[in-house]
This record gives sequence, structure tokens and C-alpha cells, in this order.
Amino acid sequence: MELVLSQRLKAVSEFVPQGSRLLDIGSDHAYLPLFLLQKGRIDFAAAGEAAHGPYQSALKNAADYGFTGKLTVRLADGLAALDPSDRISVLTICGMGGRLIAAILEAGKQKLDSISRLILQPNNCEDTVRSWLTENGFALKAEKLVRENKKFYEILVAEPGHMVLSSKDLRFGPFLSQEQSAVFKSKWQAELGKLEVISSQLPDYHTDRPVLNQKIEAIKEVIDESK
Ligand code: SAM
Repeated sequence: MELVLSQRLKAVSEFVPQGSRLLDIGSDHAYLPLFLLQKGRIDFAAAGEAAHGPYQSALKNAADYGFTGKLTVRLADGLAALDPSDRISVLTICGMGGRLIAAILEAGKQKLDSISRLILQPNNCEDTVRSWLTENGFALKAEKLVRENKKFYEILVAEPGHMVLSSKDLRFGPFLSQEQSAVFKSKWQAELGKLEVISSQLPDYHTDRPVLNQKIEAIKEVIDESK
């Protein structure tokens, strides 16, 4: 049975180097590690899940796809799933809010020494994740923006290193804003549209007005740069 990933997880999988030892936190059905094992891209993976149902489903899929020996599934909160003897090199955390991803990394940061690459796919608050990376000795190496089912997903790839980001970089992504892809423009046009609706309904004297105006101007500037 060949596993078919969503476009979002497929894009994440493309950043996992051949031969990595992967830990996928919040793995749910364990589709990402199973896909990589099935393709022969990795030989070992661990999947961590905090919730009982998704943990059972990951266990069942590991057995159904014949990878019980190569995929270890753990019922664990965040980086508690990382066992040093697994010699994990790549960590993926996908499909969660950016604040939760940053909180998981923060709570387990003393365990990240062996990690050579983080691949993170926050569903929102990407700036929080970028801030955490800059403050904790990781540098962005690549970013990708995927559109699927009318939603936009940012994928952030980071490795140990030093990086300084401006507030514009934190919000829009240094690679994404540089690349100015069609998907990037659609994402920020859509966001601009939403903020302009809010702006048209907000009284001028409202306390949120300055922040809202600033957000709108920042998006216009970034979109303008691409013309
Ligand atoms: N990673 C998969 C994906 O991108 O399709 C599943 C995403 S699913 C929306 C989020 C999963 O993260 C859920 O199965 C949830 O139980 C799990 N989760 C949330 N917080 C967690 C934590 N602190 N540690 C481990 N798993 C967690």
C-alpha cells in the first residue's frame, strides 16, 4: 500500500536529508515518517504523540505498513519522545500552532544538541517560531510556502547557527519575502484584504488602530517590493 501525503507534508518530507534519523513530534497517524521509510529515504524514525488516539493510530499504521522495527512510536509530551540512544538528527514538528511549536522546543531545548536540522510547519504565529529559533542558536536555511485546500502553510528549515532577523523578516520570512513567489503574494493579498475589512469597521480613535495601520502598511510595502 503506497502512502500518499498531503501536499503540505510532502513539501516537509522534501527537506529531510537522505539517511536522516528522524523524530516526528505530534505525529498523529505517523504518515510523514512512514512515507519516508517507504521511499527508502530514512532507515529509522521515532514518532512522538501526546494524545492516546493518535498514538494508537500511529502504532497501528507502523504495523500495517510493516515498519514496526524501523519506527518507534512513543506516547510522550514533546521532546520527552527523544531518546538519546536513537541518535536522532532531524526533528519535524508540523501541523500545530506556532506558539505550541515554540513551547515544545523551549521545554525540551536541553535535548536538542544532537539535532542537525529542525523542520517546522506552524499553522499560524510563524513569527513566534522564527523568534524562538534566533534566540536559541538556530539559523534559517530555507523556507517554503504551500497552498492547499485554500490554506497557506509555511515550512521553516533551521540548522544550528547564528541568525539576526528584522521585524519584517520575523513576520514575512527572510527567504519567502526575498523569493516573492506567486503563493507568497496570494497569501499576503488575502491577509491584506481581511485587515482592510477590519480597518473599514474600526473607529479611527480605537486603541487597536495604530497597530492595525502598521500591519497594513507593512504588508503593502512587502507586496510593493515585488512589483
Ligand atoms: N504532524 C501531523 C500533521 O502535520 O499532519 C499531525 C498534526 S495534528 C493537527 C497535531 C498533533 O500533535 C495531534 O495529534 C496532537 O495530539 C499532537 N500534539 C499536540 N501537542 C503535543 C505535544 N506537546 N507533544 C506531542 N504531541 C502533541
